[in-house]
Amino acid sequence: MKNHSLGSTIKQEDYKWFCPQPFINRVTASNRTVPCCVIKSWDPETDTAEKLREEMRTGDGEMCNRVCGVCVEQEKHPSPSHRQIYTSKWETGNYSEHLPKLEAAIKEPRVLTFEYQAPNNFCNLRCHMCGPGCSSSIAKENKDLGIETNFFKAHGKTLIKSADTENYDELLKGLIELKLTGGETLAISHNYDMMRRAVNLGVSKNIELTITTNATLTPKFDGKDIFDFIPHFKSCEIIVSIEMWGDKNDYIRYPSKWQTIYDNTLKFIQAPRTRVMFASCVSSLNVGYFDEIATGTHNMMRSYPRKFRRFASGSLVLNGESLYEVTAVPPTIREQYLDKYYSNTHPNYVQTFSKLCSYLENMKYSEELMWKMLEDVKKRDKHRGTCLTDVFPEWKPYYGRL
Ligand code: SF4
Ligand code: SF4
Repeated sequence: MKNHSLGSTIKQEDYKWFCPQPFINRVTASNRTVPCCVIKSWDPETDTAEKLREEMRTGDGEMCNRVCGVCVEQEKHPSPSHRQIYTSKWETGNYSEHLPKLEAAIKEPRVLTFEYQAPNNFCNLRCHMCGPGCSSSIAKENKDLGIETNFFKAHGKTLIKSADTENYDELLKGLIELKLTGGETLAISHNYDMMRRAVNLGVSKNIELTITTNATLTPKFDGKDIFDFIPHFKSCEIIVSIEMWGDKNDYIRYPSKWQTIYDNTLKFIQAPRTRVMFASCVSSLNVGYFDEIATGTHNMMRSYPRKFRRFASGSLVLNGESLYEVTAVPPTIREQYLDKYYSNTHPNYVQTFSKLCSYLENMKYSEELMWKMLEDVKKRDKHRGTCLTDVFPEWKPYYGRL
């Protein structure tokens, strides 16, 4: 495994696999805590953050290869992994002024960045690659379609919403970044409670606020919406989740409307000290369409200088319950996508496209997964009144055989 160095303070040769996240980050998701949102295959019975840290310190064990599998896979391809991106934030990015805190945390872990996933899975969308734990709407659709999942067996209902009784005051006082996610982040009251708590403690001015949102709504809770809270924080980054550029996005992120997302995005950039970044998963459905996202983002960056960051093609759909992995894309479709990328690579995103081409060239095809995925697509299409091949005609030879 290749490591990434952090200046002269944390030497890469000291570690077989080092990542800052388990030492300084906490993800609280539905009353369970893990060190990083990218982690997969986490066994709550046996896996602990301390065990992961110890393995990183000593290099002994099997946990990194397993729970950090997404980063392990990403590092087989060009373009940085999540681990490398987090590391570079400390090296040269917006965390670099706090590097001594990370060094101290390697010896004695403390939470400097906190990702809060409230005990509430409400989401108004049903994105194909998402699951019921993150979206009550997907859970409801699965129930309507008779799709059995562990989630429904465990909870017996589709909307999970409970009170959060933990007192986060001490944690908030030490934070350099607070990340709010969902469900749909802006539609969950717990997230406003967390921001209000930081404001009332007088610590929000020290904290960078990061919000991941589908940008389809900006509701008020207790009379206040997100625009009332942002000015109290040191800075704000809004990560607008999209899967495609333009109306095609509405198919995967059903039933969103692109114009609403676009209009809300323009409202976000008016907020003080706020920048917006578009971010997409890489899934079987959108892996061939990042050229359109690159062009769309590039145009926004030109129209609104210093308001947008370059888009991120961050999360590779992999190793979860999702059927929408790149491995489900058959060779004939991969060839079409590769031809497009090789003949029209956006100059600002050469590394991103090298990574996507590498996924398409090297990730092993699973025909079994493809048919399972297409069956899932067809069921949802029938239920929603949509049709995959209206948006992705390249799937006709396969979809037509179901
Ligand atoms: S999954 Fe990646 S980002 Fe998360 S702790 Fe592991 S190496 Fe770090
Ligand atoms: S908007 Fe986010 S939480 Fe909602 S369905 Fe889509 S991916 Fe899942």
